[in-house]
Amino acid sequence: QCPCPRAHQSAWAFLHSLAMQQRPMLRTGSKVRGTERRIAMEQIGRFAPSPSGRMHLGNVFSAMLAWLSIRSCGGKLVLRIEDLDPDRCRREYADQLKRDLEWLGLTWDEEQTPQSLRSEAYRGMFSRLEEKNLVYPCYCSRVELHAASAPHASDGTLLYAGTCRNLTDAQRAAKTKTPCWRVAVPDEDVSFTDGLQGAYTQNLARACGDFIVRRADGVYAYQLAVVTDDAQAGVTQVVRGSDLLSSTPRQIWLQRQLGFPEPGYYHVPLLVAPDGRRLSKREKDLDMGALRNRYTPEQLLGMLAHACGLLSHSESVRAGELAEEFSWQMVQKENIVITNP
Ligand code: GLU
Repeated sequence: QCPCPRAHQSAWAFLHSLAMQQRPMLRTGSKVRGTERRIAMEQIGRFAPSPSGRMHLGNVFSAMLAWLSIRSCGGKLVLRIEDLDPDRCRREYADQLKRDLEWLGLTWDEEQTPQSLRSEAYRGMFSRLEEKNLVYPCYCSRVELHAASAPHASDGTLLYAGTCRNLTDAQRAAKTKTPCWRVAVPDEDVSFTDGLQGAYTQNLARACGDFIVRRADGVYAYQLAVVTDDAQAGVTQVVRGSDLLSSTPRQIWLQRQLGFPEPGYYHVPLLVAPDGRRLSKREKDLDMGALRNRYTPEQLLGMLAHACGLLSHSESVRAGELAEEFSWQMVQKENIVITNP
């Protein structure tokens, strides 16, 4: 018998934790290409909805692809309620969202603490950026920003002119307004390869300029929160709408500053009306309240799977059945026109 059971136990716990960290996943290569067996790290995906209204068809589509992508490789899905913005987000919407996902059969393995309760974690990351001298207070008013920020970046983000970047301590001390906080970005390209959209490069200084990481009311900005949350949940793949493609270089740059690993990204097409306009939460006949009255979960999933190329025709199908055949190579990358939902 071991004379020192405590040491024995802790060594065992250490080995166990190592095995858990590096749990290899053996998969046959049929969906990976070729026939060789591959060893991969456990994949962790996430679905990160904002509870600012009832879930709509576009959210269902992103959730379905996030679910299929992770289930098809045997990974784990984390649900995260992105309720950073206290003015827009409501607890009832978050609860309803979960019921809608369950109704669809898009289940998750773990729920991360909602963003509204994680400001301590974000504060920690903000301090790290501060230690690296990357953040500075910005006192510009909305009017000043609009006046000084032309030209606008392609996606409508204001290109910040850097007005407050080099204020002296005396100039800062003389301000009375509560500042927001920005990160100083370099004039450098950030590149990555999206699993669906392909190669993407953005120069942060020219695309958006120094961006906000903490609002004047103390709420941490989406870019910092999302990077912190994804890293802390060990997320290895991010599947989300292509409206966020242009935010990704900001997030990758933050990951690099904070020493976080870079997940794989898949930006999925948006659902648009025939005139190209994005379908939104305002279209009540496309929210889950209306959709649940008209369709079964299997019909809805079947329609969406057909719309993006996963099924040759629209038929009722369960999420699990779709996962068996899923491959990103089948998914179209161009926006999808919804004519008569
Ligand atoms: N919360 C965002 C939304 O609902 C998604 C953010 C993300 O996936 O990174 O649009």
